Amino acid sequence: MNIVKRYFNDLLNFLFPELCVICSRTLVAQEQEICLHCINDLPLTYFHLDNENPISKIFWGRKDVVMATAMYHYGKGNKIQKYLHALKYQNHPYLGKKAGLVYGNVLKNNLEISQCDFIIAVPLHDLKLKVRGYNQSQVFAEGLSESLEIPILNNVLNRIKNTATQTKKTKEERAKNVKGVFEIKNSDALKGKNIILVDDVVTTGATLEECCAELNKIEGLKIYILCIAAG
Ligand SMILES: [Zn+2]
Repeated sequence: MNIVKRYFNDLLNFLFPELCVICSRTLVAQEQEICLHCINDLPLTYFHLDNENPISKIFWGRKDVVMATAMYHYGKGNKIQKYLHALKYQNHPYLGKKAGLVYGNVLKNNLEISQCDFIIAVPLHDLKLKVRGYNQSQVFAEGLSESLEIPILNNVLNRIKNTATQTKKTKEERAKNVKGVFEIKNSDALKGKNIILVDDVVTTGATLEECCAELNKIEGLKIYILCIAAG
């Protein structure tokens, strides 16, 4: 970068400093969207170290789901709530990618997950995708794909119906709300494969259960579920 350009950049940063999306501290040069202080403070679950973790237990009884895990604890007012809010509603797709890059690096040591064949993100309905401009689960998948070196498979799992928001719904209402929402297409490449299915937040697991019910139509498919956070 030449001196004039650098001077101009410094001036821009001085006039319009980039702020951490969580704590609003001014970011320094190496930081992007979130400060190091906040990154180190995000509440990790370490669920990936325990196959009997609370997220895996949601899917017990499903033979196709080998294990499930979430990277962070989601709680009212905690840092990960702010993180996810910025990711979903404030046009910060990089936060999803960042979570994927970090989690992928952690999961490289997991022999089963790191040897999966494909990554599939829970799809957004086209309408929502248009409004938001990106799918937060897809950007998480992109980060995971880069660090785990596992390709993403798009257009297999499709969302054919839009749904009302799942917040404030009971477990039964959530399950009913997502019934028949997903559809499988072009699934030949997935026979007998191991896939990583990713979503942003897991609460009752209704959306992921519904995805698995569709994916289960594919012979011999094994599923590992990874989420950014568990609420
Ligand atoms: Zn911060």
